[in-house]
Amino acid sequence: MLTKTDQDTLQSYLSDASNMPGGSAEVILIPETQAELREAVQQCARAGQTITIAGSGTGLAGARVPMGGAVISTERLNKIVSIDAESLRAVVEPGVSLRDFQTGVEERGLLYPPDPTERAAAMGGTVACNSSGARTFKYGATREFIERLRIVLADGEELNIRRGETFAKGNILTLTSTGGKTYTLTLPAIQMPEIKHAAGYFIKTNMDAIDLFIGSEGTLGAIAEIEVRLLPQPERIIAGVIFFDAIDNVMRFVEEARAASLATRTGTSEDIGIDSRALEYFDRNALNFVRDKYPNIPADAAAAVWFEQEVSDETEERLLELWYELIGKYTPFMDEAWFAITEKDQEALREFRHAVPAKTYERIRELKQRKIGTDMAVPDTQFRILYDFYTDEFAKEQLQYIIFGHIGNSHVHANIFTSTPEEFDHAKSVYHRCVLKSLELGGTISAEHGVGKIKRDYLCDMYGAQAMAEFAALKRSLDPEALFGRGTMFTLS
Ligand SMILES: Cc1cc2nc3c(=O)[nH]c(=O)nc-3n(C[C@H](O)[C@H](O)[C@H](O)COP(=O)(O)OP(=O)(O)OC[C@H]3O[C@@H](n4cnc5c(N)ncnc54)[C@H](O)[C@@H]3O)c2cc1C
Repeated sequence: MLTKTDQDTLQSYLSDASNMPGGSAEVILIPETQAELREAVQQCARAGQTITIAGSGTGLAGARVPMGGAVISTERLNKIVSIDAESLRAVVEPGVSLRDFQTGVEERGLLYPPDPTERAAAMGGTVACNSSGARTFKYGATREFIERLRIVLADGEELNIRRGETFAKGNILTLTSTGGKTYTLTLPAIQMPEIKHAAGYFIKTNMDAIDLFIGSEGTLGAIAEIEVRLLPQPERIIAGVIFFDAIDNVMRFVEEARAASLATRTGTSEDIGIDSRALEYFDRNALNFVRDKYPNIPADAAAAVWFEQEVSDETEERLLELWYELIGKYTPFMDEAWFAITEKDQEALREFRHAVPAKTYERIRELKQRKIGTDMAVPDTQFRILYDFYTDEFAKEQLQYIIFGHIGNSHVHANIFTSTPEEFDHAKSVYHRCVLKSLELGGTISAEHGVGKIKRDYLCDMYGAQAMAEFAALKRSLDPEALFGRGTMFTLS
């Protein structure tokens, strides 16, 4: 195990992609084996040192920003243990990058759907944040693909939880470590919204124990090993970026594409139907933001949508026809659309999608600015109300912003840029109004980035003080000294 205390090394572990300031740590521990990870946790516990587990630092909520104590980095726990095409299972250590894992999976003709576009993320980080991404529209979040987790707890005990084996009885969840120690947890009395959602612990009556740890943002223990479920790769993909002249048209296009996709997935008809795996949105400001790199964006485009659809030899022609028909109903820019049939062209469209958030993070890093990014989702029927609320508020308050993201899931990111602390505070007050509006519409404060340290107050807006106390009590059942993830999700001393 490597131990680092020099300031230069410490610096690179004090932040994440949220650019949240104020991180500090006394020591960085870098275990090279799972046994060393356990030793690192035990060493910190003996010293009474708080523990922040560091993945790749691409998180957007400040969860990895340490508030003193030790950072345990998973960067050397980077072994792909197995990828088995027959059983459609893979086992990885938590520090494997999503990029390396996706490459290994794709080389074997397989698909691992969770892909939060930022492939530098570590697998452990994606599980701890229950990350989503464009393909979540069809496949759901990371949670859907996690089959087994090995977790090191604050007392050095280990849990090895396989999906389908350990369930809560009502609101009581009993866990037994591999060493035979028993933990009894009382699940908070909350009702999660039935939409894309990643705020606070996953809680359901009679729930599977594994779901508690997925999305727990490094607050319950250190994920030491992950087993995931894979799918066969689809034969081929067709994709496109479609430009629109008016917001009304883009909304109607999305509603029809979403309804058709859900009908195809749930329907019994043998007919071939549209079944988009990604429906991603870019507003005019987002298009202008990357126009220097993509000058072929039509000058008068009000918005754009990127879609992907899986096809086979038999279905490709009919599906292309169906998409052309649908697109033609809502846009006058049919000739300017970018369609991609080859893998190379599709990759270029994915790069276009990634260019928007990537340029946002480059900009705030270079200019040492801060941005406020919304991550709220609402039920589909309420999305237009929330969208109009965002744009009305931002115009009224004269904010500089771009909006992009996962419109298929009624979940877009409005990013507000600020250049002074005063502008930041002003944007934050507008953001808070947007949070309250999304809650009023039956939404969530975070659909994929998590709560981290920057959205704790909003988690309380969502669930109330009583639920926050119950979340904290649940954490203390596994981590009595509150060593893991101090300051993430809630304030605990
Ligand atoms: C340009 C860009 C685009 C993005 N797009 C998306 C998107 O579309 N969808 C999406 O969901 N996210 C997106 N993200 C966010 C980000 O990629 C994810 O949140 C990612 O999963 C975090 O992984 P990480 O390894 O970087 O985690 P870190 O930032 O290092 O850590 C995040 C949290 O996970 C905990 N953690 C990490 N490893 C472990 C472990 N082994 N055990 C226990 N806890 C652990 C940390 O303690 C921390 O609480 C984007 C980020 C960027 C920069």
